[in-house]
Amino acid sequence: MAEIHRYDAVIIGGGGAGLMGAVQLAGKCNLAVLSKLYPIRSHTGTAQGGIGAALGNMEEDHPEWHTFDTVKGGDYLVDQDAAEMMCREAVETVYDLEHMGLPFSRTEDGRIAQRRFGGHTKEFGKAPVRRSCYAADRTGHMILQTLYQQCIKQQVHFFDEFQVVDVLLENGRAVGVVAIQAATGELHLFHAKALLFASGGCGRIYQITSNGHALTGDGMAICLRRGIPLEDMEFFQFHPTGIYKMGILITEGARGEGGILRNRKGERFMQRYSPTLLDLAPRDIISRAMYLEARNGLGIDGKNYFHLDLTHLDRKILEEKLPDVTDFVRTYLGIDPVKEPIPVQPTAHYPMGGIPTDMDGRVLCDEKNTVVPGMYAAGEVACVSVHGANRLGTNSLVDILVFGRRAGRDMLKLVNAADWPPLPPEPDGFARQQIEALRTASGKESAAAIRETLQNDMMDKASVFRDATQLKAMQAKLAELRERYKQVRVRDRGSVFNTELLEALELGYLIDLAETIVVGAVARDESRGAHYREDFPQRDDAQWLKHTLFYQTDKGPRLTYKPVVITKYQPQERKY
Ligand SMILES: Cc1cc2nc3c(=O)[nH]c(=O)nc-3n(C[C@H](O)[C@H](O)[C@H](O)COP(=O)(O)OP(=O)(O)OC[C@H]3O[C@@H](n4cnc5c(N)ncnc54)[C@H](O)[C@@H]3O)c2cc1C
Repeated sequence: MAEIHRYDAVIIGGGGAGLMGAVQLAGKCNLAVLSKLYPIRSHTGTAQGGIGAALGNMEEDHPEWHTFDTVKGGDYLVDQDAAEMMCREAVETVYDLEHMGLPFSRTEDGRIAQRRFGGHTKEFGKAPVRRSCYAADRTGHMILQTLYQQCIKQQVHFFDEFQVVDVLLENGRAVGVVAIQAATGELHLFHAKALLFASGGCGRIYQITSNGHALTGDGMAICLRRGIPLEDMEFFQFHPTGIYKMGILITEGARGEGGILRNRKGERFMQRYSPTLLDLAPRDIISRAMYLEARNGLGIDGKNYFHLDLTHLDRKILEEKLPDVTDFVRTYLGIDPVKEPIPVQPTAHYPMGGIPTDMDGRVLCDEKNTVVPGMYAAGEVACVSVHGANRLGTNSLVDILVFGRRAGRDMLKLVNAADWPPLPPEPDGFARQQIEALRTASGKESAAAIRETLQNDMMDKASVFRDATQLKAMQAKLAELRERYKQVRVRDRGSVFNTELLEALELGYLIDLAETIVVGAVARDESRGAHYREDFPQRDDAQWLKHTLFYQTDKGPRLTYKPVVITKYQPQERKY
């Protein structure tokens, strides 16, 4: 039997969303934060370019303009009430971080500096606006350090290198999670009145990705396996500027500072695709443009990559405003971006979908928006939905902080009001069964080989351009990979830091989540935001202005749909 811990509130994930939630609860209730990584190694720490908020420090700006850009950027699949809330609260959230001590870059007169980012405009699309608040190109690192310091000050109880493998629901209420402790292989059960999933994204489904090894979508898959649906999973963002072949991100901030994308002929090809915003068009539009240029033989050396040209920028800009990016390029490519352009290609970056929630982070389990009591989600794991079919740069950091904060505050109300829920019988049974099945399996398949096939095939068949033939081929491939997965052999039979076992578990999550992307994409026979169907190139509002809900059932996937919340902005043709 697993060791049992009891906390009023348990947060799964020590990234920006989890720590912002923790800051609201710390010192006010009995709180634990579980994280499979040390919190300060969470992916939030890699965010470079900035956090969007209409502070208006450099030029006129308003939360309404930010909301409009978010809605249009998301190709009108955004829930507009949530986007309004997010863009309004973004301003006080940034000041909140400043007051906690976050060292933002500054203007000469001492205010928080702001720069341009893709899709962020003034006066409802007229021209780019400087809205991204940044700390050089280490914004996420500074956010994570600042929040972690606040948590340490408040003596938050961290369980580091505890990997959650199951969520417990009893009588429709979330009552706890089961985690495996990496150091011992022991199972631990965390009994709680309120749970917050803040476990990040799932970019590792794809071969070329900006995401680290840990981003395997655990929280999404764990909830999915327990009957919680996932929303809008067919929309997966490819960021235009990953380092060629590696996927490591070069922030959009580089283009915000004046960087230009060029093709084989040295042309600024975005002039043809986005005459107003050029290289600062939203990511879906630029990534598609790059694929089209490559198909026309205009990639560098006729291949599928391009040049990000920063050579015309002052060396001081690179070294003061983009120091990490400059360093990465020098280290990984042996190129000095002051003198030579950087080879880049689209890289899998961000799932717009996730666990459905309301604006207080409460998890919703159906198209009627029924709340799962005691269960919350925030950050990249969740879908509020403020990103719709395509997220704008800088809007994830806003999302994780605004909704992490709102979720934390709502959880506090709940833990003060709620009684202790009972645990289900044999609470660690399902987790134990999954782990033992892997630990004792005698098949011949290797998890690494299956993962490689999955990532390569998802890249080929379900990335920037899609069609029914390729997607259905991917569906068939997933069925085959599922069968092979049953034969995975974990050679390490030990308990201590059995990373082979943990990675095999994560592979199971990746397969489940790839299926949510592919099944949603097959059904959605239109093109919208990051989901581009070559066989259905138009957006079809009459049929498809709705959110997808994907359920995993014993009989296979089931899809249902729910309406998009529209307040001020009626869908229009999306031009930049
Ligand atoms: C290279 C890069 C640059 C980016 N730049 C920007 C930017 O400039 N602006 C912007 O707005 N967005 C940016 N983004 C996106 C943004 O950084 C992320 O979407 C956001 O930080 C995610 O925060 P999170 O708290 O939801 O998740 P994360 O920071 O990924 O944290 C997830 C946490 O969950 C834990 N966890 C995961 N699984 C488990 C499990 N099974 N059990 C226990 N714990 C678990 C992890 O240990 C981690 O602590 C960038 C992303 C990347 C990859």
